[in-house]
Amino acid sequence: MISSKTSFIALIGNPISHSLSPIMQNAAFQYLGLDLIYIAIPCKDEDLELVLNSFKKINCKGLNITIPHKEKVFDLCSEISPIANKLKAINTLKLNSKKEWSATNTDVEGFIYPLKTLNLANKKSIVLGSGGAARSVIQGLIDLNLSTISVISRNKLSLDKLIKNFDNQIQLQGLLNDDDKAQILIREADLIVNTTPVGMKTKYENNVLPYGEVFWKSLNSQTIIYDLIYNPAPTPLLKLSAKKGCMTINGLEMLVAQGMKSISFWTDGLEVPFHVMNEALKKYL
Ligand code: NAP
Repeated sequence: MISSKTSFIALIGNPISHSLSPIMQNAAFQYLGLDLIYIAIPCKDEDLELVLNSFKKINCKGLNITIPHKEKVFDLCSEISPIANKLKAINTLKLNSKKEWSATNTDVEGFIYPLKTLNLANKKSIVLGSGGAARSVIQGLIDLNLSTISVISRNKLSLDKLIKNFDNQIQLQGLLNDDDKAQILIREADLIVNTTPVGMKTKYENNVLPYGEVFWKSLNSQTIIYDLIYNPAPTPLLKLSAKKGCMTINGLEMLVAQGMKSISFWTDGLEVPFHVMNEALKKYL
C-alpha cells in the first residue's frame, strides 16, 4: 500500500512512455515487500542536472537512466563503477551515505543472463550495430570468452570509435554492412546479436530485417540469433531465424535481468527471482 512513508525509484529518459520497467520493477518491489514504488519520469536534456539534484533532497532511493542520458549523467555522479566507466554508459544510480549519486551499469550482466547456460567459450560471434548497446554486448561476449567478435555496422565513425574502445582488451574485427566478407562471417558464426533498432514495433514497418533480406542469405541452422529488441516478440529477424531452424533469444530476458541487477544495487544485495518480473511483463504484453 502506498502511504506517506513510501519512497520511490524513477526511470529518467526521453521518450519514456514505451518503457516496461515500471511493470516489472513494481512487481519485484511488491514481491520483496519493499515500501517503494517505481515510476517513469520524462526529462529533457536541459533539465537533467536540476532533476537529479532535486531528487537528492526528497525520498528518492535510486534511479534508472535511459536514452538519451546514459552518458550525460557521468558529470552528475561522484562514484562510478569500473564497468560503467569502461562502457562510458550509466543505467543505475543510488544515493550513497553522503547523499551523492553512486553509479553503475547493469546491461552487461543483463545481456549475459540468457547465454550463461550455453557454452560459448571459443565460439565465433557477430554484433550488428555500433551504438550504446553494442558496447555492453561486446563486453559480455569478452566475459564469456568468445574467440572472435566481429562488429558489422552501417556507420564507419561509430564503428571505429567502438573498436578503439576495446583496443586494450580484444582485437575486434569491424566491417561495414555492404562488405562482401560479411557473408562468410555469417555462414561461420555461432552467435549473432542484433543491437540495431531495426525490427522494433514502433520505429519500422513490419518484416524489416537488419541490413535487408539479402544480408541473411548465408545464415544456417547452427547459429544462435539474439535480438535485443523485445517488442514485437518475435521480431522479423527472430521469425526468419526460427524458420531456418536457429535457436533464438529475444531482448525480454536481458531487460528483466538488468532490472534484477539494478534492484541488487539499490538494496545492497536483495535478489528477486527472474520469474516474478518476467511473468509481470508477460501478463502485461
Ligand atoms: P543506439 O545507441 O542508437 O545504437 C543503434 C545502432 O544501430 C547504431 O549503430 C545505429 O547506427 C544502428 N542503426 C540504427 N538504425 C539502423 C538501421 N535502420 N539500419 C542499420 N543500422 C541502424 O541505440 P542502443 O542504445 O544501442 O539500442 C539499440 C537497440 O537495443 C534498441 O532497439 C534498444 O531498444 C535495444 N536495447 C535493448 C535492451 C534490452 O534490455 N533488451 C537494452 C539496451 C538496448 P547509426 O549510428 O548509423 O544510426
